[in-house]
Amino acid sequence: MKKIVTIIGARPQFIKAAVVSRLLQNEATIEEVLIHTGQHFDANMSEIFFQELDIPRPRYDLNISGGGHGQMTGRMMEAVEEVLLKEIPDLILVYGDTNSTLAGALTAAKMHIPVAHIEAGLRSFNRRMPEEINRVLTDHLSAILLCPTQTSVENLEREGIREGVHLVGDVMFDATLFAGEQAKGRSKILQTLGLAEGGYGLCTLHRAENTDDPERFETICRFIEAEAENAPIIFPVHPRTRQVLESKGRKLRGVTCIEPVGYFDLHLLLGGAEILLTDSGGLQKEAYFHRKPCITLRDETEWVETLDAGWNRLWTSKSYIEPRRTIADYGDGHSGEKMVSLLLDQLF
Ligand code: UDP
Repeated sequence: MKKIVTIIGARPQFIKAAVVSRLLQNEATIEEVLIHTGQHFDANMSEIFFQELDIPRPRYDLNISGGGHGQMTGRMMEAVEEVLLKEIPDLILVYGDTNSTLAGALTAAKMHIPVAHIEAGLRSFNRRMPEEINRVLTDHLSAILLCPTQTSVENLEREGIREGVHLVGDVMFDATLFAGEQAKGRSKILQTLGLAEGGYGLCTLHRAENTDDPERFETICRFIEAEAENAPIIFPVHPRTRQVLESKGRKLRGVTCIEPVGYFDLHLLLGGAEILLTDSGGLQKEAYFHRKPCITLRDETEWVETLDAGWNRLWTSKSYIEPRRTIADYGDGHSGEKMVSLLLDQLF
């Protein structure tokens, strides 16, 4: 029996872990222990995903959130180290690019525990994003780098990382297929909000680079309002963004602000939308999975293939690349299985 400790703490990590943890549970030779750092703690940012997606209960809830990046990451490292000393895992598994990812990877690497990184190799080439720092460092600390796209493999190669790199596709595609099958039976969001398919746009916004710069935030708000003149916009508002909107007393014309929604609601909202406006990494691809056009509210993206294929454009560019085409990356909906099989190879 081998032990994997998985570290999660933020919404997109719960969704990805739902796919991989479900598969790990079926492996008789693996025990997976989950740590929830507490980075996201609101019920609709955390608990709802555990319930809807049947994610196994974390053995450890660290309850660490807020504070500066240094403080949050430092506190997480201290707490994760304590758990790792107790659990003595054979491998740790981290996802994406949050402070929880870096805290887990750095703590484990210093304890000589191999790190597997899901969603390795993504780059925005913007070091002002905390996520970019977290990604670069985590990749350099990892023994197994599970890459979603050809570009992410090339990014690693450029940084001299060639060993342990595997192109496995995107686990978010697996998650979308899973959600798509269930969402219609489990969500009534369109009826609740009185929405007709195709009659509205969907928006999400939460990146610090957008919310923390007042001038930029205002420009984005105006951009969203201008888009809302074409079709009303539904906006599930991330807690960080809600705080900024409320502190400024900023209302958005033509936009219906709602609380963050669960995964099934989100997929039905996206499936019925005419267009998506977002600064989320995951949602840029989910828009493509639903074959919906996306405008990314950022000046660059890690998911460059969505731009090249004409499904996504940066808000700074006027038009989509034409003609629209299918994206060869992201795998076949069985990325989770490929990842688990690579983890087993590493462990046995
Ligand atoms: N999401 C959700 N409810 C919402 C907004 C987003 O379930 O109200 C999902 C979305 O479908 C995607 C994930 O959360 O799978 C993206 O998370 P987020 O935008 O927080 O992080 P990022 O992908 O930018 O790291």
